Amino acid sequence: MRLPSLIREVWANLLKKPATVKYPFEKLPLSKTYRGKHELMRDRCVGCGLCAKICPAFAITMRSVYGKVSPEVDLAKCIFCYQCEDVCPRGAIKRGKEYELASWSRNEMIVR
Ligand code: SF4
Ligand code: SF4
Repeated sequence: MRLPSLIREVWANLLKKPATVKYPFEKLPLSKTYRGKHELMRDRCVGCGLCAKICPAFAITMRSVYGKVSPEVDLAKCIFCYQCEDVCPRGAIKRGKEYELASWSRNEMIVR
């Protein structure tokens, strides 16, 4: 970029609002179809295991808790394709909006 056009560019941008936001103090709105942390509705789940079978990342394990079998999602393995949501016949898995998922604990990466 030559100097006159560079100065013009700088001058034009001095008068504009910043293109960036001050994350984490400011956050951009998410799209309606954003693929964040899973929301599991255990009361709807019938334990069929289709979600675990279709998961390409092997991120879903079926666990039995108090006699009821339901999925656990390991977010450390998940690639957020949401085939599990598509295949679930009961609508028991929904894409959530939570995206700040970093953690020091593997246990906190499991959605139950
Ligand atoms: S979003 Fe995709 S990778 Fe993640 S648990 Fe569901 S099927 Fe598996
Ligand atoms: S596919 Fe749906 S109903 Fe079947 S085990 Fe998974 S969450 Fe439960």
